[in-house]
Amino acid sequence: MDRLDRMLALIRARVPELKIVHKADSRLMGIIAIALWPITPDFSTRFTTVLGKTVYIPRPMEEFPRDHLARVLAHEFVHQLDMMEHGAWFYGSYLVAPLPVVRTQRAIWERRAYGVDLLLAYDLGGEPELQRYLQYLIETFSGPSYAWMWAGTESARQFLEPLCEEVRSGELQKGEPYASIYRAWCEPKGGDETCST
Ligand SMILES: [Zn+2]
Repeated sequence: MDRLDRMLALIRARVPELKIVHKADSRLMGIIAIALWPITPDFSTRFTTVLGKTVYIPRPMEEFPRDHLARVLAHEFVHQLDMMEHGAWFYGSYLVAPLPVVRTQRAIWERRAYGVDLLLAYDLGGEPELQRYLQYLIETFSGPSYAWMWAGTESARQFLEPLCEEVRSGELQKGEPYASIYRAWCEPKGGDETCST
């Protein structure tokens, strides 16, 4: 079992009907892509989207490097857990955000999911990779990718930097769902899949 197999096993234990669909094969995703075109023209080719038990990916599954797909699915898993726990509040607060916005609940949900990406970035490349990914997220949170969900790059940095500190100190990976995700990413210890902590 590699990382992707373990991540799929973890997710399917909570989301047994998990489906992974190429966006190009989904009529619904095609309609959403048209609606979002003015804001996110690369919705279909760059972004993964999750709705309930289905994860829509921008490329065919076999074209993803397996570790990369494991990471993408782990991010979406956090959203799926939040959807299951919070139901209508999740969807409503994620989708219905006034534009342009200052600070949105959407950013708070995404911060939870991107905790996974920061954790795995740190595992893969230590502080330099964590910093690189943080910079990418600052631009992502304050830019058009998610409809300016957190206004201003400096404000986005202040919002996200404490999460990096939790990653560095090991606090984030002590709590769920990050602990389970990190275990799926790391095990078995040994070989080239040994995690840094
Ligand atoms: Zn997300």
